[in-house]
Amino acid sequence: MDEAGFFGRERERMIQEQIVRRGVHDARVIDALWRVARHAFVSPEQRTEAYADRPLPTGGGQTISQPFIVALMTSLLDLRGDETVLEVGTGSGYQAAVLSLLAERVVTIEALPDLADSAAARLARLGFANIRGITGDGTLGYAALAPYQGMLVTAAAPSPPGPLLDQLDDGGRLVIPIGGPGEQDLQVWQRHGDRFVVRSEGPVCFVPLRGEFGWGKEEWE
Ligand code: SAH
Repeated sequence: MDEAGFFGRERERMIQEQIVRRGVHDARVIDALWRVARHAFVSPEQRTEAYADRPLPTGGGQTISQPFIVALMTSLLDLRGDETVLEVGTGSGYQAAVLSLLAERVVTIEALPDLADSAAARLARLGFANIRGITGDGTLGYAALAPYQGMLVTAAAPSPPGPLLDQLDDGGRLVIPIGGPGEQDLQVWQRHGDRFVVRSEGPVCFVPLRGEFGWGKEEWE
């Protein structure tokens, strides 16, 4: 079998066994997962593992999230295609690529310059034109392109950063893991005027969110 055939079969199996079987049935999300070559977002040594049911290292102690978590968080945003979406924690760029197929524009912020640079180069090479990569502290959001109709934070936060809540559009949703080391609660914060309706989507496990409104070095061991 050629390489494209191998990765295509792996991706199909990932979608059936990890995504559909566990309850994500949104056809647009599934189509986006099918269209993004996850193996292009991992190191060459890990390409054959790219579709496995777990997170993988991206360098600097960071990870590319488990496929099911990417699918779940994406489906929780309930995107229609005309949104501007903010992602905090670019990492490999995989989640941003998936979002870019479901929204009008994606702004993604990464704190570690090496990761931000390699993700930007990879996304450009793969032809994802509607993604704006920013290097910096994502807990501050990115006011220049606000408001956002959807926001995804792909690192564990002590609480939802104020600037992100401020930059969320009326009716928009922020999907964010809240909690400390070990296990966090995946929460959806939906804005209704000045109020936020919060719901919990169950336990997840992420690396820490750093920065001004993230976890400090001593707080997260
Ligand atoms: N979404 C990524 C995986 C993210 S892992 C993917 O699809 O591959 C979490 C990422 O959040 C790490 O790369 C980490 O460096 C980054 N991060 C942590 N705190 C941050 C902050 N305050 N601002 C921006 N990025 C941050």
